[in-house]
Amino acid sequence: MDIARRDLMISAAALTLTSRAFGAGAGDRPLGYAIVGLGSYGLDVIIPQFANCAHSRLAAVVSGDPAKAKRVAADHGLPARSIYSYETFDTIRNNPDVDIVYVCLPNSMHAEYTIRAAKAGKHVMCEKPMAISVAECEAMIAACKTANRKLMIGYRCHFEPTNLEAMRLARAGAAGKIRYVRSEHGFVQRDPSKWRLKRALSGGGSLMDMGIYSLQAARYMTGEEPIAVTARESTDRRDPRFTEVEDIIDWTLEFPSGAMAGCQSMYSANQNHILLMGDAGRIELEPATRYEGNHMWRGKDGREREVTPPPGPGKTQFAGQLDHLVQSIRTGREPIVSGEEGLRDMRIVEAIYRSAREGRTIRLDGARKGRA
Ligand code: NDP
Repeated sequence: MDIARRDLMISAAALTLTSRAFGAGAGDRPLGYAIVGLGSYGLDVIIPQFANCAHSRLAAVVSGDPAKAKRVAADHGLPARSIYSYETFDTIRNNPDVDIVYVCLPNSMHAEYTIRAAKAGKHVMCEKPMAISVAECEAMIAACKTANRKLMIGYRCHFEPTNLEAMRLARAGAAGKIRYVRSEHGFVQRDPSKWRLKRALSGGGSLMDMGIYSLQAARYMTGEEPIAVTARESTDRRDPRFTEVEDIIDWTLEFPSGAMAGCQSMYSANQNHILLMGDAGRIELEPATRYEGNHMWRGKDGREREVTPPPGPGKTQFAGQLDHLVQSIRTGREPIVSGEEGLRDMRIVEAIYRSAREGRTIRLDGARKGRA
């Protein structure tokens, strides 16, 4: 069995085991999260999810907008001492209510705030993409290791029932020998002023945003690490949205087993899809990675049937994700989507960009490291 496949199986088993052990030992107080960046994800998606958590609670907010921070704190019963600005952030070290810092900032700020949080003695949940370079990811992992703190990436699909069932079916051979995975993710990015279109803040275009889902899908559906990547980009540079970052990027991954993946991301069409083709059937998800309403089908001999997945580890994928980091802290186990997992993706992301730039296939050295 190759190492990546073995790791995924161990991860799935660990997720089940820690959930059980943790449930049995209830009675511990929920751990406190500080949300850094009160934007559409941190404020509108994550904060309401604490109501669905068994072991996590909101403990502080960090924002550049004092009025917003004050309003959010009041809405959630937080004391004034649990409101921070980016300037006062480091004093969070003195706040015993905060166990975990959740970084929901533009991509280029992930490394800085993860490292500052670790130095303040806090565990870290960091949004995807983990950072904007391999070097930053390595520095984040080192900082958390030095501080003896956990680092987890906000890869919520690993807690989402449809994706979990698709992974399980793929591993169980439900489609036979895996030959090909396709995954496309995109949305229409309309506003040229968005930070996602500014390279200094985003680190790149659709690949750094929705492309992470396609790349993750290729890896978790095959259970393998790619050994080569070939990429092409298509961007209309006259379009004011795309003066700094790419629109469409398309890449092919080759895996040690001979399986291949064709992946894509874009900022000019709505798409959210994963398809696995094996020599004995197919597994298809569409929409695949949304916040809710994902659907899955299994196909065999020309017939398709919809699959209803069993419940995931949390009330929602977000609650499962938030509580999983708490479980990891309490049990001392690594989160199933640790900093190393984000780093693996970033090595491939750098190779994708390099391949598109240089117009050639980039070999990735080794199934384990995925180093370009
Ligand atoms: P938003 O633009 O909606 O929010 C980002 C927030 O970051 C802002 O509201 C602001 O909060 C803070 N911020 C600090 N400095 C800046 C700056 N220079 N420019 C803009 N914002 C700044 O982004 P999202 O919430 O959509 O994305 C945040 C992160 O979450 C990204 O890394 C993204 O990839 C990830 N994400 C993950 C998703 C998932 O499903 N896992 C879904 C959506 C996003 P304040 O005003 O409080 O200072």
